Amino acid sequence: MYKVKTLIIALIIVLFGNIETSAQDKKIKEWAIALHGGAGYYPKDAPAERTQAYMEALDEALAIGTEILESGGNAMDAVEATIQYLENNELFNAGRGAVFTAEGKNELDAAFMHGNTLNAGAITGVTTVKNPISLARKVMEESNHVFFASEGAEIFADQTNVERVDPLYFRVEEKYERWKRNNAGQGYNHNDSETENGWKMGTVGAVAVDSEGNIVAGTSTGGMTNKKFGRVGDVPIIGSGTYANDLVAVSATGWGERIMLNVSAHALAMHMQFTGSNVDEAMNYLVDDLLNPREAGFIAVDKYGNISMRTNTGSMFQAAADSEGFKKVAIWED
Ligand code: ASP
Repeated sequence: MYKVKTLIIALIIVLFGNIETSAQDKKIKEWAIALHGGAGYYPKDAPAERTQAYMEALDEALAIGTEILESGGNAMDAVEATIQYLENNELFNAGRGAVFTAEGKNELDAAFMHGNTLNAGAITGVTTVKNPISLARKVMEESNHVFFASEGAEIFADQTNVERVDPLYFRVEEKYERWKRNNAGQGYNHNDSETENGWKMGTVGAVAVDSEGNIVAGTSTGGMTNKKFGRVGDVPIIGSGTYANDLVAVSATGWGERIMLNVSAHALAMHMQFTGSNVDEAMNYLVDDLLNPREAGFIAVDKYGNISMRTNTGSMFQAAADSEGFKKVAIWED
């Protein structure tokens, strides 16, 4: 009798164990994508036209990535094209429209990572590459290295077909005048107000998983206002502002120094890996426990297509969609 009972219990464990494993291995959504256009504080009483412009830009960026994934395209193409659109849109602090260094220049950082192969490419301090995200992807695909800085990144760009521009292409006159008025000579302080709308925002990023299971993260930024000579932020540092493995893809925005010191994107992935938490639980740990209030926001997608987006700064320009019909475009947490 005792033996029979033990056998039955063992059978149940084996059966349920198997059921659970197969459920976890099953891809629940065909594809999913999330993007951000920066985290910080964007007041609810900001001019309505400005808010509408942001919402429309987020919606358009999302449509670009969605179309690629819907038609069976690759998550790498979806992430790159989504970010290119945001880089070309001067509302955001990436590509054209980037913030100004202490010397009044635009110096751009970007990173791109394919989680399944743990391969990545990153660049920092570029001044002539129209779409830094595309150069970061090329570092991943066409070089034996992971990270090129400043002059070296420009030399690498010479060996590719990425579009080049005059450094002044990135300077939006209205933003430049405002920087000269409010920020020039003010030194570097993450609480500096770059716009009349409060805390600076505008770094861009995207994460996606496609129908083949490719899981990808990308981030692009002008960094932080008044950053000093050669300052490198979290964005191009693999594991800090950008990370993907075969479980989850993550892109960050916010105070780069704090994001870096907590190796944030990697921390989220490792939380999932070592505690068995889901993407929302790992996100909560990162945003609520690891970082301090008002420091950063993140987007993440796991290999099943579950999306998580959170900030502890009050606002994050964000959008997401999946193959099950879910769609969200938002600015505020609540
Ligand atoms: N994290 C970026 C940096 O520190 C800035 C941002 O996301 O607003 O370079």
